[in-house]
Formats: sequence, C-alpha cells, structure tokens
Amino acid sequence: MRKIRIGNGYDVHALAEGLPMWLGGVRIEHNKGFVAHSDGDVLIHALCDALLGAVGRGDIGLHFPDNRQEFKGIDSKILLKRCMGWVCEQGYEVGNADCTIVAQAPKLRPYIDRMRETLAPLLGVSTDDISVKATTTERLGFAGREEGVAVYATVLLFQK
Ligand code: MG
Repeated sequence: MRKIRIGNGYDVHALAEGLPMWLGGVRIEHNKGFVAHSDGDVLIHALCDALLGAVGRGDIGLHFPDNRQEFKGIDSKILLKRCMGWVCEQGYEVGNADCTIVAQAPKLRPYIDRMRETLAPLLGVSTDDISVKATTTERLGFAGREEGVAVYATVLLFQK
C-alpha cells in the first residue's frame, strides 16, 4: 500500500496601504497589501509549510530566511516550486490541498478559481484537487480589524 502523509501550514502577514496584494499566486485588487520580505503571498507560504511539514523538512523560515537578499521581493511561486522539489525528492506526490484564507476584506470569491488554476500545476495536480476557501472573522481580532491576513493550509501526499 502506498504510504500517505499529511501536513499543515499556517502563516500571517500584516497589511499596509499602498502595497501589492498577492494571494495564491494571483494579484488581488485592494487598497492594502502585505508587509513582507518576499511578495508576501501568505497563502503560498502556508502551503509551503504544509508541504515541508508533510515530508518533515522543517519550515519555510529555515529554507528561505527573511534576512537573505536573494529572497527580497521574490515571487512565492518560486518558493513553492522548491518545496515541491523536496517533496518529489522524498518520493511523494500531492493528493490534494485545502486552504482557508482568513480575511475581512476584500471579497475574494472572484479570485478563488484563478488561485486554484494557478496552484494546481505547481503542485502537479488538477484544479479539482485544490480547494481555496475564504472566511471573515466577523470583524473580530487582527483579521477582522484588517490589520493582517492569515491562511491555514493542509496537504495530503501519496508515496509515488
Ligand atoms: Mg510568510
């Protein structure tokens, strides 16, 4: 029987006015964006951590430290590709991924399918295997006050 492994990831980035907002590899139209060393794609960062967790290869901060010049402003899709490289190297492939974005604003529904279409090839799966959900916190906490956005991600891996 093929071995299966599960991983979870969580990330938060602070919001500030006038910065670009990238989520799931898609540019989101909004008056605020993420304060970050990279492009701040908090969804991809959570996914990276889920993949790394599933194969027991540490976390995103270990591999891509935020004090290194080479990662300044980097497209997070590049980080995701590198994480997928390690997943493959360990002899695993992605079964599915499920992500929950916690954000008060903007409304993300119009972007969800594009995120799924962007992420699927990077994870080597079909769009059906990628779920992206969005929720608010009913204006409670940092997400509710629009100070930041959090993402939870879970991935399932199958031994190849
Ligand atoms: Mg991050």
